[in-house]
Amino acid sequence: MNVLRMAVLCVFLGVGAEIAHGQLEGAKVGDIDRSVDACQNFDGFANGTWRKEHPMPAIQTTWARRNVAQDETLGKLKTLLESSAKTSAAKGSTDQLIGDFYGACMNEAQINGLGLKPLELVLVKIDAVKDRKGLAAEIVELQRYGIAVPVRVSASQDPHSPADVIAELEVNGMGLPDRDYYLRDEPRFKGIREKYVAHVEKMFTLAGYDTATSQRAAAAVLKLETKLATAKLTKVQMRDTKETDHPTSFAELQAMTPRFDWVSAYRALGVPQGKLNVDEPKLVKVFDAELEATPLAEWKSYLKWHVLRKESAALPVVFGDETFAFFGTTVTGAKEQRPRDQRCVRQTDTQLGEALGKKYVEAYFPPEAKARAREMAVNIVDQLKLSIQHNDWMTADTKTKALEKVGALNIKVGYPDKWKTYASVPVSRGEFLKDAMATDAFKVRDDLAQIGKPLDRGRWDMTPPTLNAYYNPQMNEIVVPAGYLQPPGFNLKGIDAVNYGAIGVTIGHEISHGVDDQGARYDAKGALTDWWSPASYKQFEAKTGCTAEQYDTYFVDPGVHLNGRFVLGEALGDLGGVNLAFRAYKKSREGKGPEPTVDGFTPEQQFFLAEAQWRGALARPEYARMAAQVDPHPAGKYRVIGPLSNMPEFEKAFSCKKGDAMVRAEAERCVLW
Ligand SMILES: [Zn+2]
Repeated sequence: MNVLRMAVLCVFLGVGAEIAHGQLEGAKVGDIDRSVDACQNFDGFANGTWRKEHPMPAIQTTWARRNVAQDETLGKLKTLLESSAKTSAAKGSTDQLIGDFYGACMNEAQINGLGLKPLELVLVKIDAVKDRKGLAAEIVELQRYGIAVPVRVSASQDPHSPADVIAELEVNGMGLPDRDYYLRDEPRFKGIREKYVAHVEKMFTLAGYDTATSQRAAAAVLKLETKLATAKLTKVQMRDTKETDHPTSFAELQAMTPRFDWVSAYRALGVPQGKLNVDEPKLVKVFDAELEATPLAEWKSYLKWHVLRKESAALPVVFGDETFAFFGTTVTGAKEQRPRDQRCVRQTDTQLGEALGKKYVEAYFPPEAKARAREMAVNIVDQLKLSIQHNDWMTADTKTKALEKVGALNIKVGYPDKWKTYASVPVSRGEFLKDAMATDAFKVRDDLAQIGKPLDRGRWDMTPPTLNAYYNPQMNEIVVPAGYLQPPGFNLKGIDAVNYGAIGVTIGHEISHGVDDQGARYDAKGALTDWWSPASYKQFEAKTGCTAEQYDTYFVDPGVHLNGRFVLGEALGDLGGVNLAFRAYKKSREGKGPEPTVDGFTPEQQFFLAEAQWRGALARPEYARMAAQVDPHPAGKYRVIGPLSNMPEFEKAFSCKKGDAMVRAEAERCVLW
């Protein structure tokens, strides 16, 4: 905190031990660009000076203060990993596992020296496939190491019996980010498609195949993936849970795909035969037809491509560099690859997340942060309950059920109560590829082992150091990992206005997902049911339609608009999040007196500044175009402008006028909660 800000706090608080110890921090007013009109472009106003003073680094594709925090977390994790790598810890201990995994990953000379040798066995087995039966077996074998193409069996909460875990069958297996990249002819898709073929060819060449073979392989990959893309649901359809809800018996599954031996597949995966959900039956049938229609040689090329793609980070650097040149630079616009240490830290977090996460929590996560975040979450939930009780558009019976659902919401903060144990995973400093495959195999086993058992409510889908949060509609829970509870999102020294404006908005966002376009389909227990009265649901659709229309008008590039229906859930989360967090903030201050102004900015203004400084992000043009296609979150500036331009509280806080860009006309304002 700088001296000026401290002085301002002193003046307005007029008292206090806190001030003397410099304990309170407000919004970052030094980051504001006062040449921008807050009522015209609040994102530019709140962030302009920070952006001028902090140009986007070459390794980044999006850029905001949260990326800085993310890099700081990587630094902390690196310190932990380096210390584990130095000890000679007992086999199977946390230090041994994460220290050896990280140590093997960092040993670039060893990885380069081994060449493709560690992968040979896998490639030889694919080459040895003689017939369709062998092909099916090989597809299953690769899934055991996390290379699940084009079908994936995973564990899933039964949407019709939410206390049970069943199998789910998805088909994906496409290397490009979305079906449109295969099917549409605009230059932005066609260009990437052509470069994709060149990239696949280059990877085969690097793996030692001659030019003609590599070209044939790349053509085969595009051909098969395009067939899958053609039958795949659109991303908007995929958001509709009813489109992907297909309870299926094991016998029906076998009848749906006569060319694929599911008895052997289930046996190899260790999954009990039983009821499952097939996300896209039409696509599953296309997969089955292609088992016969696509020549075996082309299938082998396809599988080898996905092996090279999945394992590129564990192979000699030329593979990683080529992968970055395509997926990093061409697709997302990054100028430079992250340094190896950061990549290895991230990979350890991905592969052994709860082992590394436990260390992170012990070293860096204060219990006060957990308590304060939980208290904020409870206050925000209370606001959602009030909004449900007092709104004039839900019928009484729907209100009862909505309140039941919100009342049953589970709030997880920081880290899991019970940690995963990885002691059985063979990790050593010998061959990094073996470590990568062993940890992938563990993740697959750990997931599939749940099938046929009662639901374990203690599991987490994010690792503790993650700078993110989620809502799971089937578990009816919000999960806020420890990594999110640090500045700038959450500051133990911050005034309530900025904490509610940042992490509070995020918590409100996650809570709102429980009643967004997808969440509203699940009841309090996580069952997929129509619990709404028809009249209430009609009103809900009209209100959410307002938001879809608002976001349809936003674009990241001339001609590249957001898809309002696709970003709807996240946009509703943003709208609900800011509204609920703002009201929870006001309520939490009742009886406590106002918080300090900072440099003349009122607490309410600081709340909105914190929101914009937390949510506003820049993106490289390539990334923004890809995100508009595949990311259900609106682009950074619209996460500021979108919700705030609907709020009279914002208009009032900054004395904006009707007709200003940040003030949507009364008749167009979207309000949900
Ligand atoms: Zn969200």
